[in-house]
Amino acid sequence: MSRCYCEQCGYPETACVCAAVSAIYPSSQLLVLQHPSEVEHAKNSVRLLQLAVPDVRVIVGETEADFAELRAELARDNMPTFLLYPSENSQLLQTDDSSEAVRLILLDGTWRKTLKMYRLNPWLQALPQRYLPLMAPTAYRIRKANRSDSLSTLEAAAVALSQLEPGLDVAPMHVLLAELVEQRLRRMPVKVRERY
Ligand SMILES: [Zn+2]
Repeated sequence: MSRCYCEQCGYPETACVCAAVSAIYPSSQLLVLQHPSEVEHAKNSVRLLQLAVPDVRVIVGETEADFAELRAELARDNMPTFLLYPSENSQLLQTDDSSEAVRLILLDGTWRKTLKMYRLNPWLQALPQRYLPLMAPTAYRIRKANRSDSLSTLEAAAVALSQLEPGLDVAPMHVLLAELVEQRLRRMPVKVRERY
């Protein structure tokens, strides 16, 4: 039997998140570089991020060649661009960074895959790098249940935007995240759910 999917959010109709979607339009530009292994991953959070922040851009790839076109494009504009990545040279992402509109690049993949992307792309290493302050993630519960990074990109984007644009209401992103977590918990067998 084939499952019916919601045309708007792309989730199975039984798990439709549309009612929880309220789009926000930050002045910062979010650019997600998604590892190919994430594209078909059911638990990937980027689709939700795209619902919450319609202007987000997603480019799939891993190697420098995969991003050649993007790099040429980025080289043509002067928008300050930061990489969200906790490297040795990384600095805390702060509002000061956003006196003008900035572009923030997020890597979407498991810890291992994003490390690989970072290593394969010297142009990413050459970008100024930022990390997020530790904040209690709303979806922490589900992280134990699934892959350690299952919802990280949506969460990271929400935290990053609130750092960059303190006046921006990112609550809709957290609402969406919470909705997804609730749905997943509801679908878990009770015995499993009790552990979270
Ligand atoms: Zn829907």
